[in-house]
Amino acid sequence: MTFDLAAVAGIDPPTGLLIGGDWISGRSGTLPVLDPATEQPITEIAAASVEDGLDAVAAAHDALPGWAARPPRERAEILRRGFEAMMAQAEPLARLMTLENGKALPDARAEATYAAEFFRWYAEEAVRNTGALTTAPAGANRIMVAHQPVGVSVLITPWNFPAAMATRKIAPALAAGCTVVLKPAKETPLTALAIADLLAQAGVPAGVVNVVCAKQAGPITEAMLADPRVRKLSFTGSTEVGRVLLATAAKTITNCSMELGGNAPFLIFGDADIDAAVDGAFVAKMRNGGEACTAANRFYVHESVADEFSAKFAGRLAALKVGAGLDDGVELGPLVNADTRDKVSGLVDGAVKDGGQVVTGGRAPERTGFFYAPTVLDQVPADAGILSQEIFGPVAPIVRFSETDQAIAMANDTEYGLVAYLYTRDLRRALQVSEALESGMVGVNRGVVSDPAAPFGGVKQSGIGREGGHDGLLEFTETKYIAVDW
Ligand code: NAP
Repeated sequence: MTFDLAAVAGIDPPTGLLIGGDWISGRSGTLPVLDPATEQPITEIAAASVEDGLDAVAAAHDALPGWAARPPRERAEILRRGFEAMMAQAEPLARLMTLENGKALPDARAEATYAAEFFRWYAEEAVRNTGALTTAPAGANRIMVAHQPVGVSVLITPWNFPAAMATRKIAPALAAGCTVVLKPAKETPLTALAIADLLAQAGVPAGVVNVVCAKQAGPITEAMLADPRVRKLSFTGSTEVGRVLLATAAKTITNCSMELGGNAPFLIFGDADIDAAVDGAFVAKMRNGGEACTAANRFYVHESVADEFSAKFAGRLAALKVGAGLDDGVELGPLVNADTRDKVSGLVDGAVKDGGQVVTGGRAPERTGFFYAPTVLDQVPADAGILSQEIFGPVAPIVRFSETDQAIAMANDTEYGLVAYLYTRDLRRALQVSEALESGMVGVNRGVVSDPAAPFGGVKQSGIGREGGHDGLLEFTETKYIAVDW
């Protein structure tokens, strides 16, 4: 029996490729989309060939002059309608995300709203693309600086936030006057296709947003990046793939923004409000079932409060209702696929061999679907393998520390630098430690940092560039300097 997506999700997204305003079938057959809770297909989508990818680039290129020339206010109003269209469909979009990604419905609902907010924020930013005018120090001329649209942009997004990672790129690109080709992850293409459809209904002209899904991302991306009409790559995904794409983009010196992997430390000092820290740790770890680049990956807890934190935190995780994301009351759904579940399972087994103690969880339940039990590991040695890798699952390793400097050194002992969290009642310590942490973002007494109005991004091997805030708009512009003599 075929799965009735429209009946279960309340939305029936197009399943073709969107090129130049037309939904077409791809030249590489179709791709199944699975529900991670049942391991069964829910639909098939069109798969693009390399030629389809280049057709999408051509469509974006044709639409570029008209879109870039539209008054910013008009672009803003279209983006605003995109926000309203997404909010009107927030519940069906959330259900769709749960079906293709597995995340529990409350997480999907939060994402639908968060994702829509990027259209509202960039509707507001579209009319604030300000430049500068100064007198050259020698007084001979004026220095005029403008920010022009960078041009056709290829956007590549991961499966963990299928809506927000797409809107966080599409909205600033369109606000800046760019046209785009979006390539969503193959596990979760339906949300992106549904959003593209809503944007068309909101008045985004044909060719401004194109969407291609692919069986193999490598060849189509390589061909698009080799095309001189493409001037920008905005990628969100793993550091491993980001590294490959930077090398590919180097051949054509394509402008790149990279939102890559994380390995967030979560520091709890002896003076912290432990109940607040448990609340913050819960969100930082369990938002999206742990499948977030911002997920707290390593908990460094002062030895004086570690027993209390470990017991309370494990209690919170053990009480979670686990199940298919659309079922009533479910708080934790399955992981996205078997590979992710097996990786999590291997990391936990390795941590136990390294000396970690299972406080709760520690196994994949015997059931259909890619589930893993919420897990807390205490007394994990500082050199355990699990601490150097992105877990991307509902697993919290706890390491105990005695000195602040030791905690900072352990937190910074990673190639990643996306986000860090800390809990303390001492403002001086909070700010000193924030400055010392090698990360693009710090949550102080707070387990969530993501906000469309804030510059999101990492240092070290967590990325290049920022998304959100005004910085996110500038990523889709080139600075033009005009030396004027009048
Ligand atoms: P991924 O494997 O790197 O894939 C991300 C995207 O890249 C997908 O669309 C994928 O397509 C595509 N891709 C894979 N190989 C490619 C290649 N050779 N050439 C071109 N494109 C390629 O990452 P993921 O597993 O989907 O997502 C999880 C990762 O994303 C984690 O590391 C997480 O930390 C990171 N992330 C970072 C942020 C941030 O803002 N810093 C936000 C969210 C997630 P296919 O699906 O077809 O393979």
